[in-house]
Amino acid sequence: VKTPVSVLGLGFMGTALAETLLKHGHDVTVWNRTPAKAEPLAAKGATVAATATDAVAASLLVIVCLSVYADAEDILTGDVLAGRTIVQLTSGTPRQARAMSERVTGHGGRYVDGGIMAVPPMIGGPDALILYSGDEAAFDEYRDVLGLLARPDFVGGDPSMAPLFDLALLDAMYGMLGGFFHAVALVRSEKVEAARFAPMVTAWLTAMMASFPEYARAVDTGEFGTDVSSVATSQIAFPGLLATSREQGVDPGLLVPMRELLDRAVAEGHGADGLARLITVLERPAS
Ligand code: NDP
Repeated sequence: VKTPVSVLGLGFMGTALAETLLKHGHDVTVWNRTPAKAEPLAAKGATVAATATDAVAASLLVIVCLSVYADAEDILTGDVLAGRTIVQLTSGTPRQARAMSERVTGHGGRYVDGGIMAVPPMIGGPDALILYSGDEAAFDEYRDVLGLLARPDFVGGDPSMAPLFDLALLDAMYGMLGGFFHAVALVRSEKVEAARFAPMVTAWLTAMMASFPEYARAVDTGEFGTDVSSVATSQIAFPGLLATSREQGVDPGLLVPMRELLDRAVAEGHGADGLARLITVLERPAS
């Protein structure tokens, strides 16, 4: 079945989304602030709308992929939204998603927020994931079309859930990358090739990740007792890590916040607890 779909925003990501829909034979209407970016898609069969409002009017399913939410504020407004399903794939915050949902539903539209866990070349392929949240009936109606873009995972009726999980996953990724990059700099300080260290650190981090379910259980139940590894053990060992970094001429900056967190946990009397206790310390920012 050919579904009319409008795609607003033809940057790297919007173009990949529109191309994938065209490839599967859907009726795609596109709009971009800078019209030249629509030309290659027109050559592939897309209809080019003259204005954003025209693009919204053209289809009941409207996918939006701009740089930031603010870019969508002038575009997603007015009676033209009535009866339409707006799938907002622009990256944003949970709070922005809630506000956008209110704006769209206030104009009689249905709102689905999405977090794209992929880079543009992955769109339409087996490894792409898009997290969705918001209007579940609207999501279900378009699940098959959205499923062409990436594996769809509906994570909750509250529209803020998709950006929340999206940002939490990026948060974890940057922490991991920071650790990896710092560790590579450390071994390189003794002329060790990164390629020699990479498989070692991959195996180590994979083994460490096996503890995640246990950490999750501890923080969910509030039972932080451990007979494996305590906060105090890490807090005592940590200055050695910082000293080594300085001795080897590697910027220790990424490690400092972790030392501060461990120090604070011990100062607050949590030294004997397992490391999952650090989660609740983070939940109360230092004043
Ligand atoms: P690009 O910078 O390639 O494209 C940005 C798009 O937003 C363009 O279509 C641009 O139009 C449009 N835009 C920017 N400001 C305005 C405005 N004020 N009014 C109207 N249109 C505007 O970014 P991407 O396509 O890479 O990313 C789009 C979204 O997808 C972002 O939120 C990004 O975080 C998210 N995303 C991107 C990923 C990636 O790897 N690229 C991965 C996951 C999510 P114009 O052409 O006229 O400048």
